[in-house]
Amino acid sequence: MIEVKALTKRYNDVVAIDGVTFRVEKGEILGFLGPNGAGKTTTMRILSCFMPATSGEATVAGFDCFEEPMEVKKRLGYLPESSPLYKDMRVGEYLDFVAAVKGLRGADKRSKIAEVMLETSITDVEKRLIGRLSKGYRQRVGIAQALLNDPEVLILDEPTAGLDPKQIVEIRQLIKNMSGKRTVILSTHILPEVSIVCDRVLIIHKGRVVAEDTPQNLSQRRQKKNAVRLTVDAPLEEARAALLAIDGVKEVTLDGYAKAGEMPLLVETDHARDVRRDMAAAIIHNGWGLVEMRQVMMSLEEIFVDLVTEEDKTNVQH
Ligand code: ADP
Repeated sequence: MIEVKALTKRYNDVVAIDGVTFRVEKGEILGFLGPNGAGKTTTMRILSCFMPATSGEATVAGFDCFEEPMEVKKRLGYLPESSPLYKDMRVGEYLDFVAAVKGLRGADKRSKIAEVMLETSITDVEKRLIGRLSKGYRQRVGIAQALLNDPEVLILDEPTAGLDPKQIVEIRQLIKNMSGKRTVILSTHILPEVSIVCDRVLIIHKGRVVAEDTPQNLSQRRQKKNAVRLTVDAPLEEARAALLAIDGVKEVTLDGYAKAGEMPLLVETDHARDVRRDMAAAIIHNGWGLVEMRQVMMSLEEIFVDLVTEEDKTNVQH
């Protein structure tokens, strides 16, 4: 549905994006993740035909963003980071105005407005002034206007920025409900957001794609350290000796504070062997209590830092 190839954009001396390549399939929600200044907004603006790229290709629903911008715009809804809403207008009036600009008329227009208000749960504020709405509601009005032309593709730039926690949950749910129905690109610098909302994530750093995968695969694939967090009711040195005797256990360290009956340990292990059963057997064999055991997964934060550091190192080497 969206295809981007070797896209580069320079603002004079600044290279905002540098050879970005990715695809988004129909009905997929893609998370565009990266720190501020990574190039997310630049990519989204190019895809929405707001500005041309310096080089490279971008197509939406088979239409070229540079050659056929009108065809692209017909099929695309865009919510910029700070959406340009008219604060003195009432919600219904505003949607009516945008719908007219998008070419809708009469009964078609009325039914479409009712439909998008329902989808974004703003029917109850139809008569309210936009300027008087909470930020969360305003954001929904922004999404509603982007949906008026029934776009196949929806591009949302930091849709949860500046919202309170309850509003964030609601907006995320609204977006998640579009999965399978619309193709969505959502930019964010908030890591948990992508694992909650997105089917796939593209990590962008300094204008380059540094990783692309499902949030789940990314944490599995990037699992460099294999470790198990273990809490036992056992003396430290004896437990350490018994665990180190297991084939595949490399290191055992105290992980936090020991309290009565609970000795927290971090057990680093070989990639090739799952030693959890052997550890449980050793603990029970020694008559100790097994309080907790769990595999340590790298969090998205750790993966991100890891990828970004790796990329910086590569750049220094070349
Ligand atoms: P993000 O959306 O990930 O925060 P942007 O796409 O806004 O990143 O910015 C990418 C880079 O391009 C940054 O270094 C930013 O300073 C630069 N940039 C963005 N817009 C302009 C502009 N209009 N003129 C010059 N530099 C810009």
